[in-house]
Amino acid sequence: MLKQLTRSALEHLLQQTAADYRLQVPQRLADGTRQLAPYGSGELSLFGETPQRKPTSAFFPQTEPLLKIDSTGAVQLPAAAEKPLALFGLDAHDLHGIAFIDRFFSAAPADDVYLRQRTNALLIGLTGAAGPDQSFLPLSAGNCDIELIASNDHWLAVAYSETGEQLLEPFPDGDNDRLRALREETSSYRAIRPDSLQKASELLLHDRVPDDFWEAIAARCILCSGCNLACPTCTCFCLQDRQRADGTERSRVWDSCQLDAFMREASGHNPLGSEALRTRRRIHHKLAADPQRWGELGCVACGRCDRACPTGIGIFAVAEEIVKRYEKG
Ligand code: SF4
Ligand code: SF4
Repeated sequence: MLKQLTRSALEHLLQQTAADYRLQVPQRLADGTRQLAPYGSGELSLFGETPQRKPTSAFFPQTEPLLKIDSTGAVQLPAAAEKPLALFGLDAHDLHGIAFIDRFFSAAPADDVYLRQRTNALLIGLTGAAGPDQSFLPLSAGNCDIELIASNDHWLAVAYSETGEQLLEPFPDGDNDRLRALREETSSYRAIRPDSLQKASELLLHDRVPDDFWEAIAARCILCSGCNLACPTCTCFCLQDRQRADGTERSRVWDSCQLDAFMREASGHNPLGSEALRTRRRIHHKLAADPQRWGELGCVACGRCDRACPTGIGIFAVAEEIVKRYEKG
């Protein structure tokens, strides 16, 4: 289904969505950043840079209560949300990131805590002339309910699910030729992932990157964990118990493979006992282990870790360095 929306029709679609969902939309916050925030809490931002806070945090938050045990020993589970989530404004990288962790958390044994948030949630992509200064963002691969494609003063709206079709039903039909042209523009656009990621992946899979490379990269890591915390495809977490006045609360909290305690065992043995091993793991997991397990890179090239890393060793930077040093060697 292809429809066409004016600005007021788009507002109408969002209002309609907000009636049934906890809708988050891109907004320019008071600190100047562009982030997803609850609909109606600020002015809608229909183009601009990718929000730095990863959208997967809506379904897999940094801290998530799992259960509470009260003083009588009774176990309480968190109350279910009244409405499912809806996220609007996701680009092709972020839609890919959500699809990536959907598959991870749905694989047996499925993660019911994640699926509780994710099932029935609605995803609305925003591509086309929606980048900074209305620059072009490549179209998605369709891994959403609705994709809004900004084009001149209107949005082409493609439905990819039954719910998406129902929501778009009232709007007029869109121009198929225009959609075809935008898809062609996407295919001629720079690859969605930089070449260096794929090349670095092949070098890692062929064991062409020596240990001393990881020692040199790790020497630049200050263990801030920003790379992992920003990454939409990072899914590692640890459990945390907190004693409160009314009982004990167990939560899961994001973990970071750059930190010393990441795999440290109760015995004190640490299979990732050096910064070099942990840095190797961060990159190797996404560029070698994920392709082996899932058949694709675990990096959706959103660029967040390169923006977050204060010492310049995000994945693009490291992949480029690997290719520069070892491609011909
Ligand atoms: S660019 Fe960095 S933050 Fe984004 S998906 Fe790849 S590894 Fe994760
Ligand atoms: S963001 Fe950079 S410095 Fe911080 S933990 Fe990650 S690699 Fe290390």
